[in-house]
This record gives sequence, C-alpha cells and structure tokens, in this order.
Amino acid sequence: MRYFLTVLVCVFAFSRVATGAPGAVRCGKLLDVRSGQMLSDQTVVFDAAGTITSVGPTSSAKLPAGATAIDLSNATCLPGLIDVHTHLTGDPTGNGYARLGISVPREAITGAKNARLTLRAGFTTVRNVGASGYTDVAVRDGIDAGEIEGPRMRVSGPPLGITGGHCDENLLPSEFHYKAEGVADGPWLARAKVRETVKYGADLIKICASGGVLSKGDLPGTPQYTLEEMTAIAEEAHKLGRKVAAHAHGTQSIKDAIRAGIDSIEHSSLIDDEGIALAKQHGTYLVFDIYNDDYILQEGAKAGMLPESIEKEKKIGRQQRENFRHAFQSGTKMAFGTDAGVYPHGDNAKQFAKMVEWGMKPIDAIQAATVNAADLIGWPDKIGALETGHYADLIAVSGDPLSDLRVLESVKFVMKGGAIFRNDLAAK
Ligand SMILES: [Zn+2]
Repeated sequence: MRYFLTVLVCVFAFSRVATGAPGAVRCGKLLDVRSGQMLSDQTVVFDAAGTITSVGPTSSAKLPAGATAIDLSNATCLPGLIDVHTHLTGDPTGNGYARLGISVPREAITGAKNARLTLRAGFTTVRNVGASGYTDVAVRDGIDAGEIEGPRMRVSGPPLGITGGHCDENLLPSEFHYKAEGVADGPWLARAKVRETVKYGADLIKICASGGVLSKGDLPGTPQYTLEEMTAIAEEAHKLGRKVAAHAHGTQSIKDAIRAGIDSIEHSSLIDDEGIALAKQHGTYLVFDIYNDDYILQEGAKAGMLPESIEKEKKIGRQQRENFRHAFQSGTKMAFGTDAGVYPHGDNAKQFAKMVEWGMKPIDAIQAATVNAADLIGWPDKIGALETGHYADLIAVSGDPLSDLRVLESVKFVMKGGAIFRNDLAAK
C-alpha cells in the first residue's frame, strides 16, 4: 500500500510539473509573514499558470472545477524561502588549488545538482552572486525551461573585481598570464564589464569591494574597488535596469559601496556606526552570512581551504556576528543570504537559528528570507508571501517555526509555481 501511494504521489507530482493544472493546498496553519500572524485552516488556490488566485479560510475557499486540495492539514505553510547569496555552481570541495582543476562545464553540472538540493530544502528562489563562465545563466535557463529542477534564479555571472583582488584568481604565478574573467580596473573598464556581463545574461551585477576570506594574498578589511569605480558600476548597472551586490567585509569599503549607490552589502562584517547610519539613510540592504563561520572553522581545513583563509575567518567571524546584532538593533534593512557553496548546499536554513541566537526574533529571520529578500531581488509582488498574484511557491513544515525555527531545517513539502517538488507529508 505504501509503495502504491508513493507511486501515485510521484505520478501526481510529475503530472503537475508537466501539465500545469490549477489546484489548491489546504494548510492546517499558515504563517502570514508580513504581519507575523499564524492563521488556522487556510486554503491557497492557484491557476494553471501557477499563480495564486486566492488565500483564505478553507470554509469559504472556491476550488477550481475538478480540483481537490492537497491536504496539508497537519502542517504549517509558509511562502517558499529565498536565499540572496548563493553559489550553486560551487561545492565546498573546490577550495584552494583544487578549484583550478574544475572546468566550466563541470561547474555547470555541479550547479544542476545543487539547484535541486536547494529547491528540495525549501528555497524556491535564490540570487546567485558569482559563477564562472556564465554557468549560473545556463542553470537558470535550464530550470526555467523545465529541463532540470531548481529554484527561481537571479544570477550575476562572473563577479567584477580589481586585478589581484578577491574576485581575481591569485593562485597561479605570472607565467600563466591568468586573470579571472570579471577583472576590470578603472571606471570605464568597469562600465564595459557591466555591459558585457549584462550582454551574456546577468540579472544583477556582483562586485568585490574589499578583500575576502577564501582568496589568496588579500585581507578582508582592505578596500579594493574605489568609490569612483563603484559609482561608475552602480550608475551603469542601474541604467541597464540591474541592481548591484557588493562583497564588502571592510569598514571603508562598506561605506564607499553605500555612497556609490550599491543596492546590497554582502558579508558586512566590519561595518561601523557610520556605515550603519549610511545604510539606513540610503535604504541599502545588509546581508550577513553568519552561519558559515562555524563550517569554515570546523571543516575548512578538511575541505581544502588555504591556512590563511582559516586565519582570516578566525579574525572576523565573531565580529561579523556582533555587528549583525548591532545593525539589526539599529534598524537597518536585512535580507537572508548564506554564501551556500562555502558550506554544503541544502543546509541554507541552518542560518535561521544563528540569526535568532544573535538577536532576531523568529519572525524577523523569516521576514529576512521572504518579504525582505523579495524586495531586494526586485520581485516584491511575485515571491516572498502567500498572496493573490504571487507565484504559488509554498513550503510546509511540521511544527511551529515561530517557536522553533529549526523546523525550517527539515522542510516536508515544496511547491514552486503550483508544481510539487517534495511531499514527505503524503504516502505516510
Ligand atoms: Zn559569496
């Protein structure tokens, strides 16, 4: 019987993916992420295009002709989660010199694998900020064409950076004459690189404003792009309808990036009070990846990270968490981003507990990964909430995420655009 039901569920799931019929989901509980209210016995109805047409009490729900609601009456529904800082085409095994042996086509295959893992973990949208050879564009397009499973993706292509900086490749000596494809020095070459990146399919621009942890020969706290270069990049990207995400650990780089008009600061590790005030004044989103510190310190050496990288993480990891708490309490805008790829994909939700440990209430952390992330990505009316007009991107968990956020680490049901990609609640 169990086998039979499993087969039925699989066939059902496949047919939903393939045909795109209207349908409905009945939720025992449903979290309104905007208000923080937990609602009881709600039904979400969606059309053949996978767009939500109504959300309300089950007693008054009007189901499409011939449809029966998927029964999640024992579960809590939330909108699909959003991670605004992932590297789907990278794995934590590709560190240090091992990275040089990974080809661009191989990276694309890795991306397809991790897209599926990420979607099945409940993340129905990601913003991918940095990949080689436009592999992220290929993965995004493969997902959109229905050829591979994965979240909705907004992708940056290769990240822009200075010669010898965090976004260059500094492992090879000069006789190899190698530089990373996103390297562009000076305002006009940086503008040209923005244009090139957009030409090949980027939805946003990623830059390296300061040094980083996992790169060779630089320091996280030191500036790399100048204010003048970043101003040119932001202006060019915005002119072309693209936002800019800046990797910035360093105090000065964070402030320069905000003043330049960059849309989000990634890592934000060494932000000071002036930086916090500037972020509030400019409406800049701060993204703090405060889970992966644990992974780097515990697993980094085994995962082939350079000894200097581990030392750098030791210096800034705790400070980043303290500054996360301070920035949140100061009222800056925050979006959920984890740097998945530094740690294994699919573990994205492990960051929620860290955000609560460092000062957020569960609803704040959930809002960072839903409505706030949707706003930063530029799809506030499409993702991040279960509301009419949004995509039917819905996940379900057992238990109450408002009292224990760790339930998000084991998502039981995943729907994207009305198609089911995981259902551990059926076939029991
Ligand atoms: Zn990153």
